[in-house]
Parts: sequence; structure tokens; C-alpha cells
Amino acid sequence: MVFAVRCPNPSCQKFMLVEDHQKGKVVPCLLCKTAIRVAKGPGDPPEKKSPAKK
Ligand SMILES: [Zn+2]
Repeated sequence: MVFAVRCPNPSCQKFMLVEDHQKGKVVPCLLCKTAIRVAKGPGDPPEKKSPAKK
């Protein structure tokens, strides 16, 4: 299964398709080579899980 991630580079913001097995990994943007961290689940924030309640 593939899903889309968006390049964090403000001047690029290209959507790229990544595959399931790339979840939790960092992939380079095809256009600008910016490292894109792939979220582990749909809608999940990448990595950061604050233990503090909010
Ligand atoms: Zn990019």
C-alpha cells in the first residue's frame, strides 16, 4: 500500500508517494532532496509523542 507525504520544504511542498515499509523512515524528496520523515500511521505526527498531557 502506498500513501502520500508532503515535502516539508516550504518552497517545494511536493507530494510524494511512499510505501508501507517506509513508515517511520526518512526519505529524500525527489525534487529538493530534503529529508522527509514518514509518519508511522495515517495522520500520526512523526515520532514526537509528548508525555505531558495537554
Ligand atoms: Zn521537496
